[in-house]
Amino acid sequence: MSQHTWRWQLLRAGSFRLDGGTMFGIIPRVLWQKLAPPDDRNRIALQTNCLLLEDGRRRVLIETGYGNKFDAKNRDIFALEDRWIGTALAEVGLDRADIDAVIVTHLHFDHAGGLTFSDPAGAPPRPSFPNAKVYVQRVEWEDALANKSTMTRTYLRDHLDPVADRVVLLEGECDAIDGISVFPTPGHTWGQQGVVFRDEHGTVVFPGDVMPTASHVGAAYNMAYDVLPYDNIFTKRRLLARCADEGWRLAIDHEPGHPLMRVRHHPDRPDQFLLEPFGTSGV
Ligand SMILES: [Zn+2]
Repeated sequence: MSQHTWRWQLLRAGSFRLDGGTMFGIIPRVLWQKLAPPDDRNRIALQTNCLLLEDGRRRVLIETGYGNKFDAKNRDIFALEDRWIGTALAEVGLDRADIDAVIVTHLHFDHAGGLTFSDPAGAPPRPSFPNAKVYVQRVEWEDALANKSTMTRTYLRDHLDPVADRVVLLEGECDAIDGISVFPTPGHTWGQQGVVFRDEHGTVVFPGDVMPTASHVGAAYNMAYDVLPYDNIFTKRRLLARCADEGWRLAIDHEPGHPLMRVRHHPDRPDQFLLEPFGTSGV
């Protein structure tokens, strides 16, 4: 991987809630409810964590959250917070036009929604980042257009069609752009990718929904949304072992608390891992 180093910070594009049972797949509620207490509609708290990378020449956004186009009914179902990636960028003094590239792990609504926006509400959606290309795996893009998913309403054309002419399709492990590489993380979707870059302290990885919260660190803690749950176990194990062995720091996409973690092998159980929070950002 490139030795290029970035300054970076965490951006929160908005909190939301999903059904706790679905988020924890085969794990019994008596176990997961201690980790993620459900509300009176059985939903658990989640965040849409994004990363902003800068090197003095370019600004790169990893992930975009759910955006600002959902109607009142969906906002209620998913408890969408009244903010989006545009709000988070404005809070750090940036305009959407300042972003030079956007990399998304996959194209479910809570990752691709922010790629496009409507102004005024209800107007035809337009690209949110007028100067950015969008980097995604070819398999993910094709599956999204074919709506190939266990869910019928997560690959939404309002999030995809307006950026179709600015998508860069990636093939497996490669440099997405100079200084940022991607690698396949199959399980949650067939075409999901993780993103890897370096800062002055070493390597940081943003793996997407391999492990949506810190509570999903256990091998069996998959989501019911995963298309390949068995594969996800191995994707997660390889990822965590690499983090522990090579000192990679982990940024967890939907963790509602502290999403930045170092990883250690469990001292007694070789296939288990322990997480330790670090920093608030790499800046
Ligand atoms: Zn997600």
